[in-house]
Amino acid sequence: MWYYNAPGRAMCGVFGIVGHPEAANLTYLGLHALQHRGQESAGIVTCDGARLHQHRAMGLVHDSFTPEALGRLQGRLAIGHVRYSTAGTSELRNAQPLAVATSAGPVGVAHNGNLTNAQELRAHLESTGSIFQTDSDTEVIVHLIARSTAQDLPDRIAGALRQVRGAYSLLFLTKSAVIAVRDPHGVRPLCVGRLPDGATVVASEPTAFDLIGADHERDLAPGEMLVLGDGEERRSLAPFPAAPEKLCVFEYVYFARPDSTIAGRNVYAARRELGRQLAREHPARAGVVVPVPDSGVPAAMGVAEVLGAPFELGLIRSHYVGRTFIEPQQSIRHFGVKLKLAPVRDVLAGKDVVVVDDSIVRGTTSRKIVKMIRDVGASSVHVRISSPPTRWPCFYGIDTPTRRELIAASHSLDEIARYLTCDSLGYLSLEGMLKAVGASARGHCHACFSGEYPIDFVMQAEEGGEG
Ligand code: AMP
Repeated sequence: MWYYNAPGRAMCGVFGIVGHPEAANLTYLGLHALQHRGQESAGIVTCDGARLHQHRAMGLVHDSFTPEALGRLQGRLAIGHVRYSTAGTSELRNAQPLAVATSAGPVGVAHNGNLTNAQELRAHLESTGSIFQTDSDTEVIVHLIARSTAQDLPDRIAGALRQVRGAYSLLFLTKSAVIAVRDPHGVRPLCVGRLPDGATVVASEPTAFDLIGADHERDLAPGEMLVLGDGEERRSLAPFPAAPEKLCVFEYVYFARPDSTIAGRNVYAARRELGRQLAREHPARAGVVVPVPDSGVPAAMGVAEVLGAPFELGLIRSHYVGRTFIEPQQSIRHFGVKLKLAPVRDVLAGKDVVVVDDSIVRGTTSRKIVKMIRDVGASSVHVRISSPPTRWPCFYGIDTPTRRELIAASHSLDEIARYLTCDSLGYLSLEGMLKAVGASARGHCHACFSGEYPIDFVMQAEEGGEG
């Protein structure tokens, strides 16, 4: 049987801090720096040594916390979460971190990623008495922890996680510690750092450390569990059998912030190299190279460099609308492109324009952009994409639609070019992408491009049968 637990699907950012009198305020700032990883809801849970305090709200970090709300979040330990989910799950009850009482004390959880056997586990837990309060995969972990008979919480957490499959970078908050865990394949990033006063911080991306003046010490290893007790030595545990590293390559292509360095590779440098490689693979006679802002900017710089053509901002982005992808309805999305981008006639008119973006999902954005560039008088429009065709949905935490909606899943490159109405279309090859992100040193998950899924999952029939 094919099915997939879509309601749990969410892209997210997590932040945690241990041993700081301003834990909530610093978590708030950390979440600001991770806002690109999720704009739907934000939340912080703190611990004052005895009790958890929580605040969660729909919307951006800035809108979710008042000074009063932050003031109520007392304690020296905190975890925070920003969430980005698919349509239909936009409810406060699914916002994180979750906070629950267990027989081993209160526990908060913040999760970036996606479990692939959550539905099976949930069905089993419900049939044996568990009552779920959210649609999210993460609650499955909480129930498994609550049922564990192990003595201490790190053991309970490890026991629970040995039963789940999928991608997870997780932060747990207990009365006395923050426990950070990366799944055995290390699909989603997670890193640890230190503030000058000695407090330890953990975050999805090191850009959150830069904002608060913390040093990025290192990334957690795949499968690592780091127990961070207030005033104690860090304990690094390896509770899972070793597995090949499968860091999500799309973090480099699109998702992470360019100022972050993940697995030793700066995201901006990787994106620029993706652009250079793209131009080598798909040269074009360019009068001007134009990025689709913001996601295409570093790659377009690399393209311009190799083509020896001027790089210009021929499309101006309004920063007062969200990413168009967030809009749940197709009708609004179409309009959204115009709301978000405006062409600069003087840059584009009469030119052979090479327009660069990081990816094509449904194709609607690129089609609008090509039309926009033609309408102001470009001589020709050449679309260049700094990743391979997106043909497969992600089951590990990136919000990609079903195969039916992915244009490259069902159309040839010629058909896509005709749909976009461009003069030429070039996608980066899989090998070129992996080379550009420096994949030789480690393994990557590239399932959305290749269909090679490193972790088992059960898929809905509508997701495409053969996958
Ligand atoms: P589409 O119109 O569906 O082809 O959307 C393409 C645009 O969505 C590109 O500009 C990408 O930068 C952006 N994009 C790609 N993947 C995602 C994602 N998972 N979430 C949000 N935006 C995305």
